[in-house]
Amino acid sequence: MQDSQGTANVTSRYRPIGGWLETPRDLQPSLDTSVTADVVVVGGGFAGLSTALELASTAADVVLLEQEFAGFGASGRNAGYLAGGQGLDYDMFLKRVSADQVRQIVRYFEEGVTYVEGKIAQYGIECDYLRTGLLRAGIHPSQEKKLRESMAHGNEFGASAQFLGEKELRARGIPPAFLFGYLTANGGTLQPGKYVLGLRRAAIDAGVRIFEKSPLVRYVEGPTVRCETEKGSATAPFVVFATNGYTPQLGLLRDKVVPIRVSALETQPLTPAQLAALGWENREGITTQHLIMESHRLTVDNRLVLTTKHLDYVYGSKTPNVPDKVAYKELAGLLGERFPMLGRVAVRACWSGYISFAYDALPVVGETGDRGNILYTAGCSGHGVGTQSYVGRLLSDRVRGIEHPMLAALRHATPRTLPEPLQWGMMKSMFGAAHFLDNRVNRKVRN
Ligand SMILES: Cc1cc2nc3c(=O)[nH]c(=O)nc-3n(C[C@H](O)[C@H](O)[C@H](O)COP(=O)(O)OP(=O)(O)OC[C@H]3O[C@@H](n4cnc5c(N)ncnc54)[C@H](O)[C@@H]3O)c2cc1C
Repeated sequence: MQDSQGTANVTSRYRPIGGWLETPRDLQPSLDTSVTADVVVVGGGFAGLSTALELASTAADVVLLEQEFAGFGASGRNAGYLAGGQGLDYDMFLKRVSADQVRQIVRYFEEGVTYVEGKIAQYGIECDYLRTGLLRAGIHPSQEKKLRESMAHGNEFGASAQFLGEKELRARGIPPAFLFGYLTANGGTLQPGKYVLGLRRAAIDAGVRIFEKSPLVRYVEGPTVRCETEKGSATAPFVVFATNGYTPQLGLLRDKVVPIRVSALETQPLTPAQLAALGWENREGITTQHLIMESHRLTVDNRLVLTTKHLDYVYGSKTPNVPDKVAYKELAGLLGERFPMLGRVAVRACWSGYISFAYDALPVVGETGDRGNILYTAGCSGHGVGTQSYVGRLLSDRVRGIEHPMLAALRHATPRTLPEPLQWGMMKSMFGAAHFLDNRVNRKVRN
């Protein structure tokens, strides 16, 4: 079956891991004995690896448990936008925390960019980082008012951005589907697979004992926490849950965060003629002003990577590693709609992953357990390249008894999630309404 792009059945391009990486050849051993450590970290994404690295730099003995391989989760599947504090859900934040706290939270996002840039340099991670800034764009005049309002809010809270009209976008070579937008100078795009595997390599080199293919099945609280895998256990005075969208399945944060499935599609490299027709010399990462945004980027090896547009939620906060055919079809359709000058473009891969979302869209970072020795981070809401890396510093300080000012800024009461089937009903209706309204805008553009 051919779609409008001539891409034979995009679902056949499905990968059960991110398109950016392969399972590492040096897979670390699985845990089949009982070990002890100063800290056990569960989850090997940006958050878990960064926490482990920060702790290792203070000479702590760290064990990291990962169900598959470090980079298996969202950290190896995302679009690679290293973004600061622009384009966040400020209105939602303001319902829960003061304007002053919002300002500090925006600073947390902004500092996340600097943190990642510093770590890339410190560990010498070659991850194709392009410090191009990022563009939030409108594809139809009806989106301009909201886009300007959001930009003004971001500017007010400390994430600076500049509005660019159609002439300025054309002068920059941005593809013509994008009519206007705002550019944030802070940040850019990177190759997330290379970044997360670079962190993994740095953690191994720093002496972190990583156990892969070692899913946590149970943990027992106490003055020390025992983390059990099928065949072994790791015990420490502190455990850090860096399992993001997978956390509710572990019986933790079920009342605070919801996993949401986000999908991505990557093309084969564009030909020189297609590249010339496209323009886009600076390769700024672009997101759109839809209710469920589209993201479009051009990689250093000339592939288009499109993500989001279609979100989904699985009943009971489950996180099955399965294809999302509807999302891939919609993303494939976007190739023709946003980039008609390219003609046929072959799809190389599609994949999906899970982010976690709190009802107030704010990060969920803190501790639990009678002794406060079970730490967690989740609620990245799809903005985790910077913050889920930077959170490692905050959590490592917390283990050492230091309250980092940014951790203090993040503390607030997260709204309680709904029980099933109410949550399923709410998520489905919310996504359904957003798709309906976004499609109305897209239809206007087509017409
Ligand atoms: C398609 C997509 C596009 C995105 N685009 C962007 C973007 O452009 N910019 C941005 O800032 N953010 C983006 N995000 C979000 C970003 O990827 C996440 O915020 C970030 O990767 C979260 O990192 P993490 O370490 O908290 O979680 P994860 O990377 O999900 O890591 C959690 C880890 O825990 C492991 N785990 C789970 N259960 C267990 C268990 N029982 N035992 C042991 N290990 C376990 C998992 O295997 C996984 O490796 C995107 C996400 C997706 C899915």
